[in-house]
Amino acid sequence: MASIVTVGETLVEIMRTERDAPLDCPGPFSGPYPSGAPAIFAGAAARLGASVGFVGTVGHDAFGNCVRDRLRCDGVDVSGMRRQRELLTGIAFVAYASDDTRSFIFHLPQSAAAHVTSDQIPKGYLEETRYLHIMGSSLSIGEELRETCYKLARRVHANGGTVSLDPNLRPELLPEEEIRAVCAPVLDIADIVLPSGEELASLTGKADTSKGAEELVARGIKIVALKRGARGARLYTRDDVFDIPPYEVEEVDPTGAGDCYDAAFIVSLSRGWPLKISARYANAAGALATTRLGPMEGTFDHQYVADFMASQGMSLPPSFENGE
Ligand code: ATP
Ligand code: MG
Repeated sequence: MASIVTVGETLVEIMRTERDAPLDCPGPFSGPYPSGAPAIFAGAAARLGASVGFVGTVGHDAFGNCVRDRLRCDGVDVSGMRRQRELLTGIAFVAYASDDTRSFIFHLPQSAAAHVTSDQIPKGYLEETRYLHIMGSSLSIGEELRETCYKLARRVHANGGTVSLDPNLRPELLPEEEIRAVCAPVLDIADIVLPSGEELASLTGKADTSKGAEELVARGIKIVALKRGARGARLYTRDDVFDIPPYEVEEVDPTGAGDCYDAAFIVSLSRGWPLKISARYANAAGALATTRLGPMEGTFDHQYVADFMASQGMSLPPSFENGE
């Protein structure tokens, strides 16, 4: 049984091999790469050494095998996963532009990924779950998955566990006002929120990120970890606001950085690490995620992350170096 669980969509990503190649004309693609923000989170957390479960659905097809085998190989407990015969595995087509923006075509609401129910979870599955992580994208795909996310979050919260939310907004999936509405029931019970600046603005309706973060803290969120890409992260708690500097990397593919950040953050909190050390570890995992092409290819084990931190003169304190 897993101490960290995530529930949501899993899919394969098929990406343009060249920047500025649009999605509306012929040209080369690369993939399938296993993906889906919750799946990336699960794989990354398991690779860091945590006991992690993923609850999601794939189709009875080769793409489904691709994601399930990858999660299993990363050490994720996949007993809460289901294969559905009638529908295809989720697919995202992605194109990158030179200004680092991305465009997507999602085959998700009509795919197996949207059909996740609490019935597919083995009995007793959540008994030892201390952390449940929810992505806003999972709340945006369809009612069945959304209700399952709410149900599991409420169950873990009622058992004394911690619920975290990454708004992970994708305007292609749901308009902004609706996103705010679907996130509200999770925000009511969440202790940790991990947004990007834009997501924080969408979630709170406040263009000023500090004001948005303060609003979440006033609402009862214990930690807001604001992800700032190559600029690192800023953390807000009731008593403190502090910046965590970035690690330097050569960015190859930014997709998945936020999910790997979330994974390292939750894994380190689950180990009982202090907040500032968890935040540094998360910055390192986020930075490393950008160094590989493909959403789940930039996940690493604890030792690799610790060595990377040391290589940039920002080592973990000795008592945390063995990752326990
Ligand atoms: P996504 O949802 O696309 O995965 P995100 O917007 O949620 O991403 P980012 O801010 O892009 O998250 O990345 C998460 C963290 O990873 C950042 O806070 C930072 O610590 C690290 N990171 C991301 N990109 C870089 C980079 N180019 N250089 C150094 N660190 C980075
Ligand atoms: Mg994100």
